[in-house]
Amino acid sequence: MPIPLIDVRAHQAIIGSEVNEAIARVVEHGKWIMGPEVAAFEADLAHFCGAAEVVSCSNGTDALLLALMALGVGPGDHVIVPTFTFFATAEIVSFLGAIPVFADSEADGFNVCPESVRSAADALAARGTPPAAIIGVGLFGHAPDLVGLRDVADDFGAHLVDDAAQSFGARTPAGPVGSLADVTTTSFFPAKPLGCYGDGGACFTESEEAAALMRSMRVHGKGTHKYDNLRIGMNARLDTIQAAILAEKLRIFPTEIDQRNKVASYYNTALGELATIPIVRDGHVSTWAQYTIETPQRDRVVAALKKAEIGHAVYYQRPLHEQPVFAGAEAAPTGLLRSEALSAKVVSIPMHPYLTDIDLQTVVEVVSGALA
Ligand SMILES: *Cc1c(COP(=O)(O)O)cnc(C)c1O
Repeated sequence: MPIPLIDVRAHQAIIGSEVNEAIARVVEHGKWIMGPEVAAFEADLAHFCGAAEVVSCSNGTDALLLALMALGVGPGDHVIVPTFTFFATAEIVSFLGAIPVFADSEADGFNVCPESVRSAADALAARGTPPAAIIGVGLFGHAPDLVGLRDVADDFGAHLVDDAAQSFGARTPAGPVGSLADVTTTSFFPAKPLGCYGDGGACFTESEEAAALMRSMRVHGKGTHKYDNLRIGMNARLDTIQAAILAEKLRIFPTEIDQRNKVASYYNTALGELATIPIVRDGHVSTWAQYTIETPQRDRVVAALKKAEIGHAVYYQRPLHEQPVFAGAEAAPTGLLRSEALSAKVVSIPMHPYLTDIDLQTVVEVVSGALA
């Protein structure tokens, strides 16, 4: 039996009938756009992560766009972003006419290194164009160093955004992900730790003003009335049906995070001697969007997994500064060597809450066989 990298349907064995009933209720009442389930789910999310304001939206990319627009980032502004991340993190910066500046990963982790961000900010400030914003990303489910990034942001008067598309639900010593940046964003793409049955996303903030702007901008820059347009916005609403599904999935999300952590512990013990396993920093809880190992034998591991029909992926094949569209983009003066090295060594292996003991034994057997 093939083992998928992520099984987006496995939760249906637990809450399939609740989800189907939630879908049926929405089909029946017909308020498919901004129905009552949307506001109810936003309240559930606020309660879950302790954020003062939650603005749901169409996907994780639009969540980032809404965040930057609400913070006033626009043409010609510089925004420091990790180079080792999903494309959208930097894409939205350029989409707004702003300029991404790439920073390197931590020496012993996957997330962006605050020192590298500082070196990029220093170089920008020296030219009289300090960064307008810094975007951290909670790669593979582990929050970035939001305290370190906040220090840099404060020193340069920059906004801090946390792209928590993979790390919503994660915890840090400073509190849960959702209230530690000026705006935190997430994605409910099916393969994310909290996924819906299509596209979805959300923004979290402590600022009433930013929340009001994002609520306006997700519906064409509306004012108090839908046909009263105060600013340029987007069509970026979360579908009612997705909100109804997500409300059911949120109920079992804490248990699922525990189960993902059990899978990670199993892998840590079984693979710790053979490959570099992902670090969880003191006081953090990861949501394990991915379980990613580093090994110089990556190609052998990939070949063995493929042969055994075990799901795997290389996130990310290329750091963003090596993508053709970002050729010539500015980088932190201290370089991007760690991110470049990561791209050559990483591979992600099956991770979801419903992997069985047999699945785990099989994955470990195949990975350790390739590394022996
Ligand atoms: C998935 C992802 C996004 C984009 O989310 P979508 O819902 O697919 O638009 C942005 N940033 C990161 C880090 C992601 O993993």
